[in-house]
Amino acid sequence: MASTTTRPPGVERNAAPLLHGTEAAALAAVLPGGQWGHGPATDQFEAGVADLIGVTDTVAVNSGTTALHLALRSIGIGPGDDVVLPSLTFCVSVQAITWSGAAPRFAEIDPRMLAVTPDTVLEALTPNTRAVMPVLYGGRAVDLTPIRDHLADRGIQIIEDAAPTVLTCFSHDPIKNLTTGQGGTIIPRTREEADTLRSLRLFGIVQSNDARAAMPSYEVQGPGMRFDMSQLNAAIGVAQLKHFPQTAAHRQHLWRTYQAELAGLDGAHLVDVDVVNTVPFNCVVVLDHHRDEVFRHLREHGIGVAVHYPPNHTQAAFSAWHRDLPVTEQVAGRILGLPFHPAMTHDSVRYTVAALADAIKAAA
Ligand SMILES: *Cc1c(COP(=O)(O)O)cnc(C)c1O
Repeated sequence: MASTTTRPPGVERNAAPLLHGTEAAALAAVLPGGQWGHGPATDQFEAGVADLIGVTDTVAVNSGTTALHLALRSIGIGPGDDVVLPSLTFCVSVQAITWSGAAPRFAEIDPRMLAVTPDTVLEALTPNTRAVMPVLYGGRAVDLTPIRDHLADRGIQIIEDAAPTVLTCFSHDPIKNLTTGQGGTIIPRTREEADTLRSLRLFGIVQSNDARAAMPSYEVQGPGMRFDMSQLNAAIGVAQLKHFPQTAAHRQHLWRTYQAELAGLDGAHLVDVDVVNTVPFNCVVVLDHHRDEVFRHLREHGIGVAVHYPPNHTQAAFSAWHRDLPVTEQVAGRILGLPFHPAMTHDSVRYTVAALADAIKAAA
């Protein structure tokens, strides 16, 4: 195996943002303003994301976790309600539900796509289910069309799907496809939903910051917190947005490079992300055997592997909502996320796959 001095770029990190060189100037432009909460740069970011996705409105908040929390709250999810979601997701998907007072109801996943399916969602429904949160594993859309009418008849809403007919949440954390440093976006379905979300994200006050500053009073209409996206974060996002097509193409190309390089490797199976329709967020393989040994071997050799995600239904914090999920448990013990970010080259992918082949052999 090659020595560390010849290691190609980026293999030591599992994920990283791609900086385009314009972010520092964007920050420098908003810093002297001295108003760093929600402001014109945030409005500009909201409009830019709306343009990119092709929707009329978006609501920016301070994280993806907040986006999920507010999306649940805006449709009135609370104590007594169940929300269906996969166990194989980042723990904050579950925390957003428990924080709202509702109960997570874990659903099984398809072992090839690592996401819920219409069947596993139906199986998990309870009389108290008020929402379904299909997590888009690796960015791939989850198609719930076959059960959409059934869910609607039962008064069950969908959060975090990719289609604009449902409430959608994004994270702009540094490792996500579009970063603001830290931040999140919610795509509201209606004008009313947008108004509710804007009120919840900033103190429950109706007036904008600028309008509030120009008046001797303000009107508090309901609950609210400081969940707004800072202009400092939004400025980074606006700079990143201009280059998003380039980032997207790069991620798709990188994923296809992995697909080609992994094709001949025994013992590791690439999780398909539907790369034609998806901007991939990660590159995950399912190993036949010895995941933990392979993980350790690669880490010892400086390869930034990661596991997305340890399942949630076996976490102590969520033990009250444990269910038997044999498919999830089986596959969760076999997944391995390979280094995947736009600073990587074809050489980085070749090097990583060669190291993976070595690790599989060493663990056998
Ligand atoms: C990143 C991520 C989140 C959390 O977003 P933050 O911006 O880090 O709060 C939630 N769910 C999933 C599936 C994620 O990948």
